[in-house]
Amino acid sequence: MIRKIITYPNPILKKQSSDIINFDESLWGLLDDMFETMKSRDGIGLASIQIAKPWSVFMINLVDEEGLQKDENLVEYVNPKILSSSGTTTYQEGCLSVPGFYEDIKRADKIEVEYFNRFGEKQFENLDGLGAIAFQHEFDHLQGKLFIEKLSFLKRKKFEKEWKKQLKNKKF
Ligand SMILES: [Zn+2]
Repeated sequence: MIRKIITYPNPILKKQSSDIINFDESLWGLLDDMFETMKSRDGIGLASIQIAKPWSVFMINLVDEEGLQKDENLVEYVNPKILSSSGTTTYQEGCLSVPGFYEDIKRADKIEVEYFNRFGEKQFENLDGLGAIAFQHEFDHLQGKLFIEKLSFLKRKKFEKEWKKQLKNKKF
């Protein structure tokens, strides 16, 4: 089922997500809905909090070398942790909860992570490039943080001005 994606400045996005304890049907149902929702919006990543569920879950589905986004490349991250990080990289990020806004964000270039899959099996992964960037972006969502909080003071001010204008022009 496609769920509604909540957008900035909805205060739910500031919530800290809680760890999953039971790896059961309620988790699998959530993950399936998240995947359907993410695909419907052409996203490459989605955190559970973005559909207003503060569970420590996100997913990433990067496009391959041919520019295709394949279902089999989906990775579901449950109770993820960053074990170590190194280097820096800058990438123009966007977010389904801040639609239409893109800005360069600086993050670690390489990360080592652990997480559980949907069956409660612990996994380890070394990520770099876009995989590392997407992981850090989604991981921030679980701490109640959005990428716009990483903007410089001036860029943030400019964003708030543009965002207010955009909200006013939207007809609900
Ligand atoms: Zn996001």
